[in-house]
Amino acid sequence: MKTIRLESGILDENDRIADENERTLRSRGVVTVNLMGSPGAGKTSLLEMTAVKLGGSVRWAVIEGDIEGSLDARRLERLGVPVVQINTSGACHLDAHMVREGLRCLDLDSIELLFVENVGNLVCPAEFRIGESRKVMVLSTTEGEDKPRKYPLMFRESDLMVLSKADLLPHLDLDLDALLSAVSAVSPDLSVMQVSSRSGEGAGQWIGWLRECLG
Ligand code: MG
Ligand code: ZN
Repeated sequence: MKTIRLESGILDENDRIADENERTLRSRGVVTVNLMGSPGAGKTSLLEMTAVKLGGSVRWAVIEGDIEGSLDARRLERLGVPVVQINTSGACHLDAHMVREGLRCLDLDSIELLFVENVGNLVCPAEFRIGESRKVMVLSTTEGEDKPRKYPLMFRESDLMVLSKADLLPHLDLDLDALLSAVSAVSPDLSVMQVSSRSGEGAGQWIGWLRECLG
């Protein structure tokens, strides 16, 4: 029987370009965070809060991945953050090749931190390395406690999980203990941080984590 392993070939090629991106970014001293999560989880809101809290203390930029349009990029530009928009024309994740094109549009010597806001999707962004230093996933309190068991890969791949919309916890039926034990069942070493971009809860911890990454 002949078996065609198309997917692994695609992933090998992606890994090669991801390695190249990683070398480029590292040689310029840029820490890169791949920000992943479902549509509406609060990725862009987290970046807006980050812009306000960091002020001018860190030089950073964003690569914004969307299937279409530039709504999120405009939100960040309004706050003075340099943004490169990548439209994937249908693809539901960013890959290393797309990010390499994005890097060509940035002055990497002028930044120390780069966020790549991935396409809103809880599945395949976790499968494609882009050359990042850290993977952060945003899961909102409104998404329910079953997500780690249904979509374990992103939880396993991430270095940090931001539990967003923490201000809504008192109003939701979410069983927080059940969610946290599901997270540690699928990814025992994953750190979890409760954050609300609206109320500012957890902002200090988030900014502290970023500063630690910057070293
Ligand atoms: Mg967004
Ligand atoms: Zn995809």
